[in-house]
Amino acid sequence: MNIQGKLAILADAAKYDASCASSGTERRDSLGGRGLGSTEGMGICHSYAPDGRCISLLKILLTNFCQYDCLYCVNRVTSNVPRARFSVDEVVQLTLDFYRRNCIEGLFLSSGIIQSPDYTMEQVVEVARVLREEHDFRGYIHLKTIPDAAPELLARAGRYADRLSINIELPTETGLATLAPEKDAPAIKRSMARLRVHIDDAKEAAKGDEAVVSMPKSRPKRAKAERFAPAGQSTQMIVGADAADDRAILATSAQLYGSYRLRRVYYSAFSPIPDAASSLPLKPPPLVREHRLYQADWLMRFYGFGHEEIVASDDGLLRLDVDPKLAWALAHRERFPVDLNRAPRELLLRVPGLGAKAVERVLAARRVRRLRSDDLKRLSVPLGKALPFLLLPDHKPRVIDDAQVAAALKPAPVQVQAALFA
Ligand code: SF4
Repeated sequence: MNIQGKLAILADAAKYDASCASSGTERRDSLGGRGLGSTEGMGICHSYAPDGRCISLLKILLTNFCQYDCLYCVNRVTSNVPRARFSVDEVVQLTLDFYRRNCIEGLFLSSGIIQSPDYTMEQVVEVARVLREEHDFRGYIHLKTIPDAAPELLARAGRYADRLSINIELPTETGLATLAPEKDAPAIKRSMARLRVHIDDAKEAAKGDEAVVSMPKSRPKRAKAERFAPAGQSTQMIVGADAADDRAILATSAQLYGSYRLRRVYYSAFSPIPDAASSLPLKPPPLVREHRLYQADWLMRFYGFGHEEIVASDDGLLRLDVDPKLAWALAHRERFPVDLNRAPRELLLRVPGLGAKAVERVLAARRVRRLRSDDLKRLSVPLGKALPFLLLPDHKPRVIDDAQVAAALKPAPVQVQAALFA
C-alpha cells in the first residue's frame, strides 16, 4: 500500500480521538472543485500551545492494527476495517514534509496496540526521538501513551513530547471492565501519577540550581534542565457508550484534575461503529451533551464550581436546553439578584453571562465608580442573560422565571466551544 493509502486509513482512524479542540462546527468541504477548504475528514487537527496559540497538528495513528478488543473502538481486533501501518521513517518523513509545506506545526501520534504495549510505545517514542534528535524538529509533539508500557518508556516519551496523554476512556471502572476488559483502570491511573511526578520534577529542576561561573570572568551559566512534557498531560473520556451519567463523568474529571493536575479532560460523544457489540447503544448521545460537559468542565476549572453542585437534576444529567451555569442559577434563585457593585468575585463568577474576563473588568471598573446597566454594555456583558440576576443602581430584576430567561436568550443557539468563554 502506498503512503497516501496508509494516510487515508490512519488519519481517518485517528479522528475518534478528541484530544484537540477543533470539532463541533458544521460540515463543509470543497469536493467537486467548488470553494476552498474542508471542516470534514481528518488528518490535521488543532490544539493549543501552553502560551494559548492555536496550532495545527498532523493527527495520525502509527497503526490501526490492535490486539485489544475494546467494544467501543473501530480499531479493535474483531473489527472488520481496512488496516495499515506506518513505519517510523514514514511518520517522520510525513511530518517533515507537511511541516516544510507549512501545513502543520506539529504531530499528534497515537497507535493501536501491536505485539505488546512496550513494543508499541517504543515505536511511538522512536518517531519522536528521530524527529527531535536526528532532524532537530522543534514543532509541537503530542504523544498518546500506552498505559501498560514500562515506566522507562513513559519517561523517554516525556523527554521528546510537548504533551502526553493517556485515555481514561470511560468514567467508571465498571464501565471500563465491561467495555474494555483488557484495559486496567488502576494501571491507567498509575501511569498518570508517574507522569505527574516527572512533570513536577522537571519543573522543579528548571527553577533549580544557581548559575555557575565555569571560567574566571566568563558569564555565569546554568545547566539546562531536562524537559518533560512541558505542556502537561491530558486524557479523553467517551460519553454515552455506557450508562454513566454526567454527574459520574464530572466526578471522575474532578478527581483526575485534583489528583494528577491534568491540563485537560476531553469529552468525546460515543459514535456508533460498524458491527458494534449489542451492549453498546445504537444511537450516539446528543452532541450537545458533549458540549454541556465541556462547559461544566470549564466551570470547575475557572469559575470555582465544585463538581457535585453542577448537576442539579435527579437523573444525574446536565440540562441540554441551557448552559450549566444558567441551569445552576435557575436552580438557586435564592442566591440572586447579586449586587454588581458589592458582590465578591466568587459570587460574580456565578452570574450567568458574566465571563471570567468580564468579572475582572467589572472589579477594576467599580473601584472607580458605581456601575450602571449602561456600563455593562461597554464591558460587553450580554444584558439579556445577566440582567435578570443582577442588582444595579438603575435596575432591579423582577422574579426570575424560566420563561423570562428563555425569552431573553432567544434565539438560543447551541454554540460551539467559543460559548464557553461567555
Ligand atoms: S486499545 Fe485503543 S486502539 Fe486498541 S481497541 Fe482499545 S481503544 Fe481501540
